[in-house]
Amino acid sequence: MAAVFARTASKICRLSAKIQACRGYANIVDLPETHQLLQKTLRDFANSELAPIAGQLDKDKQFPKEQIKKLGELGAMSVNISEEDGGTGLDYLAYAIAIEEISRGCGGTGCIVSVNNSLYLGPVNGWAREDQKAQFMTPFLHGDSVGCFALSEPGNGSDAGAASTTAVDMGDHYLLNGTKAWCTNGFQADAAVVFATTDKSKKHKGISALLVPKPTEGLTLGKKEDKLGIRCTSTVNLIFEDCKIPKENLLGKEGEGFKIAMMTLDAGRIGIAAQALGIAQAALECAVDYAGKREAFGRPIAKFQAIQFKLADMTMRLEAARLLVWKSALLKDAGKEYSKEAAMGKLAASEAATYVAHQSMQVLGGMGYVTDMPAERHYRDARITEIYEGTSEVHRLVIAQGILKEYGITAR
Ligand SMILES: Cc1cc2nc3c(=O)[nH]c(=O)nc-3n(C[C@H](O)[C@H](O)[C@H](O)COP(=O)(O)OP(=O)(O)OC[C@H]3O[C@@H](n4cnc5c(N)ncnc54)[C@H](O)[C@@H]3O)c2cc1C
Repeated sequence: MAAVFARTASKICRLSAKIQACRGYANIVDLPETHQLLQKTLRDFANSELAPIAGQLDKDKQFPKEQIKKLGELGAMSVNISEEDGGTGLDYLAYAIAIEEISRGCGGTGCIVSVNNSLYLGPVNGWAREDQKAQFMTPFLHGDSVGCFALSEPGNGSDAGAASTTAVDMGDHYLLNGTKAWCTNGFQADAAVVFATTDKSKKHKGISALLVPKPTEGLTLGKKEDKLGIRCTSTVNLIFEDCKIPKENLLGKEGEGFKIAMMTLDAGRIGIAAQALGIAQAALECAVDYAGKREAFGRPIAKFQAIQFKLADMTMRLEAARLLVWKSALLKDAGKEYSKEAAMGKLAASEAATYVAHQSMQVLGGMGYVTDMPAERHYRDARITEIYEGTSEVHRLVIAQGILKEYGITAR
């Protein structure tokens, strides 16, 4: 591990022109040097390359192609892929830090990077054969291509095991029919991990995962969804009509799809939790800065106790959530069970983000409500983190099941 840190630290040092001591908000604990360098590098990048354009990307609903390429060069598009496979070779704590810093500059860009890292590369890295990796992993490591993850359908989201998209065995290929909904990065993606039923009689145990290149005959895209927030991301339906997918594109074994999807989402939740932390951090900083400058009744509003109490509650909820998110990442890095903790981290961080963004807007008063300031965008961007990669209700179920199991009590 020390060797990996040392190698990657020197890599990041080379990439970051000027490494200074970490400033800005204080670390809760002392991070390893590599993580501090990564944090500093991506914080600088977010400050200089993302925050200044995030409002315009949001307004134009524009995918940040150039910035994704640069993030790829910094190693942020393949944080957890080993150096042997061409990735950055860092752990999940590093991944959480990376996504937080990127999302602090632009919540939508954080989502794009998170989906490529954990929802796309995660299952490919975990289950693909070497020949599959050459086609479906290597081009996706450095921002040249992005991938997407197609699990949800118009008829089922939380109940992912009820997938109705089918992949019928035709000998040398599968015939894919059905619609996958809400695919983040779907418009730009050069490939998708698609979940479809290969054996309906086995219910969720009959779901398989397929690697689908884009474009592919028989695959069309639905309209781009017009969203409340994270508007620089594309969200589209993937529509399969008699789409032929070669047998060799099966990811893992037939019937392993549901397990692959659930394991992918466990890890993915660390990314979305980190996205929520980044949006919350940006909203808090915006509120503190404004409170110090805005005067009312002859003094800065920061001197009013009502404003101070808001800043205190915002800071406390954010920092508590960060500890939970980092704990889930550390458990995963240690190879320990982390489903319950990832659910707690995602739930705490997403609820902290919506709370902090709401209060930030309140601190800014009228200026919080207009697009001249980023507070209204933080408020809109934060909201999705309570919905995707498992809703808050589903996370409460996962946490409850986890705690009941620890006490030997069955949840259902
Ligand atoms: C912008 C965006 C991007 C997305 N990106 C992707 C993507 O890249 N890939 C992908 O596959 N999907 C993606 N999704 C889909 C997302 O994961 C689902 O929307 C989410 O899982 C919820 O599913 P649903 O919308 O079908 O809601 P439903 O499952 O219909 O839920 C509706 C409500 O009922 C509640 N509910 C459902 N079941 C239970 C239960 N058992 N107990 C208590 N309450 C329950 C839910 O919490 C929610 O409040 C995306 C969605 C959005 C909006």
